[in-house]
Amino acid sequence: MINYLSIDLESWASPNLPEFINLKSREKKKLDNGHIKKSALEILRILKKHNTKLTFFVVGQMYEWYPDVVDKIAQEGHEIGYHTHDHEVLTNTSILTKSIKKSKKFLQRYNPIGFRAPRTVLKPNHLKILKDHGFRYDSSIYSDEHEKKKINGILEIPITSFAKVPVGSGYFIGFLGKHVKLLYKAINKTGSPVVSYIHNWQVLRPKGYTFPTKKYLLMNPHYWPYMVDCQGAFEYLVENFRFKPIKNLLQ
Ligand SMILES: [Zn+2]
Repeated sequence: MINYLSIDLESWASPNLPEFINLKSREKKKLDNGHIKKSALEILRILKKHNTKLTFFVVGQMYEWYPDVVDKIAQEGHEIGYHTHDHEVLTNTSILTKSIKKSKKFLQRYNPIGFRAPRTVLKPNHLKILKDHGFRYDSSIYSDEHEKKKINGILEIPITSFAKVPVGSGYFIGFLGKHVKLLYKAINKTGSPVVSYIHNWQVLRPKGYTFPTKKYLLMNPHYWPYMVDCQGAFEYLVENFRFKPIKNLLQ
């Protein structure tokens, strides 16, 4: 069975918290302190070691910061998908239109056909805009059914949930560690692949001040799995399951 683990590649300072949301690109780059690059290279190292190609949903801003790293991801045979320019939460369509404008160079260079919305917030109206910009699929909703649906001309490839629990989220890799394999096996047994994701900042934990902040954790204690170092669990999955880029589901 082939599964579809993907990487949401973004700065740890991207989650849409008041601390980060108003930072200018160069302020965020300074705060990130090279972590997005370091974590991307570490993920590439692990994937090369296990001869595995995945989809990377990349924030367009990353191409402005480290174009060589995004080039390297593409050159090593991984699929480049799009995760907005600056991890904007798409509460209305004009946010997506502006984001796409800001990512012009990134989009022209890689022509991504896959999209994932930050925080998986997406409305059907957004799909029409994605179609107009050459996208062919979106993977931003959760579903128990591994069933692809065409909405507004875009194929929706759901992230896996199981008994309505969004187990395809990187949260569950943090929560369960290597035991997440039991979920993958149970889902594969039903005849369905797992469509899942993990963040680069979960595979390589940033040092010092980071997301989730201590203040955020006090208010949202259920976020603790996002503090867990997932490098071992990530490598375990890559070593023990077969994965391919999500675009393969279009064939
Ligand atoms: Zn994200």
